[in-house]
Amino acid sequence: MADPRLSRRPDAGGRINVSFEFFPPKTDEMESRLWETVTRLEPLSPAYVSVTYGAGGSTRERTARTVGRILRETALKPAAHLTCVDATRAEVDAVIRDFAAMGVSRFVALRGDPVAGVGAAYRPHLDGYSNGAELTAAIRRIGDFEVSVSAYPEKHPESADFATDIDMLKRKVDNGATRAITQFFFDNDLYERYVERVRRAGIYIPIVPGILPIHNFRQVAGFAGRCGAHVPAWVAGRFEGLEEDPQTHALVASAIAAEQVLDLVERGVEEFHFYTMNRADLAFAICHLIGVRPQTAAAA
Ligand code: FAD
Repeated sequence: MADPRLSRRPDAGGRINVSFEFFPPKTDEMESRLWETVTRLEPLSPAYVSVTYGAGGSTRERTARTVGRILRETALKPAAHLTCVDATRAEVDAVIRDFAAMGVSRFVALRGDPVAGVGAAYRPHLDGYSNGAELTAAIRRIGDFEVSVSAYPEKHPESADFATDIDMLKRKVDNGATRAITQFFFDNDLYERYVERVRRAGIYIPIVPGILPIHNFRQVAGFAGRCGAHVPAWVAGRFEGLEEDPQTHALVASAIAAEQVLDLVERGVEEFHFYTMNRADLAFAICHLIGVRPQTAAAA
């Protein structure tokens, strides 16, 4: 029987679009795990997959290697993340051209975090791009690329208020961004209120929810605090006492992510970006729930 929640979508029957985010692996073991993940998720035909760029441009080579392998060995469309951190405009432009020469046509343009770490004051390179909006303009100057940017349903911690935050998003859109991907969040009301604010500001690009399946609650809670994402008490409560019980932790994590995503579908969301942490299982299961299934199985 069809899931009644899915049939309440405005375009019931239409396919939900998904994308998956990976980070470039550091070791051979991590590389094998990433490729197992890519192999498992590829049949879901994501609209694209994205590969992050390390703090201070530290993974530039590894990002390029991972993107290159995706291009060579899969039918997936990779988007390269790029930041402005600690690099001159000329250096960033050269990286954009290198990616373009490899066949990349999508970028996720970010300012990035200070080299000293999240929470330290950000100082742009004297000859560098200052923020995501300037980087977006640079990418679009170099070619007709698709550029996604960040968005913050709980506002970026450095933004004085929502108006300042949304003004930055508007500048990115004016400079050619075609999609925004949100920081992860767990309270769908916050996302909905944010999208309303964004639309009131005259911004009409898709604001794609970034979904973080919680593979490790303690890690996520620590990271969330630093990047201004709120972990509701009810989420923390569900993981209480599960530190030494990975199996139950995984079941609880999948229940939370499933509830969140199904609720967003009910609210009319048709595109999701999954922060996979290079693991396939939770993302795969949630995709299954929202009707995003391997193409061969769906066709059978
Ligand atoms: P921007 O959008 O340029 O700025 C963020 C906010 O800070 C703005 O809303 C603005 O109000 C405020 N601000 C910016 N500049 C100033 C200023 N000069 N004065 C006052 N306020 C200012 N990080 C990585 O290192 N690598 C990645 O691959 C990566 N991928 C990401 C993907 C997504 C979808 C998201 C949401 C984040 C990602 N990040 C990544 C994290 C990101 O780099 C940090 O959140 C960073 O702190 C801000 O980058 P941004 O592009 O959002 O900044």
